[in-house]
Amino acid sequence: MTSRLPALLLAGLSAWAVGCGRDCAPPEARGGTDAEQQAAEDEAATFLGLMKEEVCVARIKLGGLRGTSIGKYSPGTRRIKVEEDRPLDEIRSTVRHELCHALQFQHELDLSGPEWTLALPIELPEDEQPGETWAYTCQQGPEPAYLMGETCPGDPFGTEVFEQVRAEFHPPGGVLERAVDFDEVGRLAVEGDAVWVPTEGGGLWVEHSDGGAEVVDLRTGLPAPPGPALEGSADTGSARLLYYTAFAANGAQGLRLVYDDEEGPTRAGCLRPEETPFAVEGELWSVYRDDTDLVWGVWSVE
Ligand SMILES: [Zn+2]
Repeated sequence: MTSRLPALLLAGLSAWAVGCGRDCAPPEARGGTDAEQQAAEDEAATFLGLMKEEVCVARIKLGGLRGTSIGKYSPGTRRIKVEEDRPLDEIRSTVRHELCHALQFQHELDLSGPEWTLALPIELPEDEQPGETWAYTCQQGPEPAYLMGETCPGDPFGTEVFEQVRAEFHPPGGVLERAVDFDEVGRLAVEGDAVWVPTEGGGLWVEHSDGGAEVVDLRTGLPAPPGPALEGSADTGSARLLYYTAFAANGAQGLRLVYDDEEGPTRAGCLRPEETPFAVEGELWSVYRDDTDLVWGVWSVE
């Protein structure tokens, strides 16, 4: 009898302590200026909408932070504090960062692997590093994680953290899921330290490791006349092949090839060894090294 009442009270208190009750609407902001409140509320509503599973935040308070931090998420109250008198972009990125902490605590993310070591130059106790590695990577939103895609051969250590971001976020509207194909057109045996340069008019100049050089026609693979090195990026005017990279807060940075046109960017895939994209006569090409062969081909999108 005496024990039941405190137990009920505790249950009631803990329901209040989580701060959201049954209502999981995007949080309102208090404090700061109207513009700061608006920026914080808009950013929170948008960012929470990108998350696959519900994350509840009771309120965003602008100002009133002590110490050197410009943002804070309190798991007990599910409240976020963000420093006021800051550029609106910084308020927005701080809101995203703290929402990532909210997700981390509410979904009890397992951040126990060595890949969760923070590489940013921030002084932090060791036990806070995994959470910051997560939050600084997650605050970029899902676009980098979806353009990076699966971990690629040759990736440096730690790009797996993007997989965790993809697991928690919907595919972003800004990244298109399309089939981007590479059709091999030709290959040439090379040994050792060969160098090669696409040339104007659709040739490939290759200097072999013994010093001998040749020019091959990309289309036919037959000898071609020498021409000046092709200048400019892999851009046909309507579509581009780009090197893409994203940084994770553990220092990981993988390189990818992204196909981009007026509809938006699509992940073209892992970058192959020494792969170089270029454009010839309205088509996107790339050449890469496949062990003892140089391989080139044309890219297309469905
Ligand atoms: Zn943080």
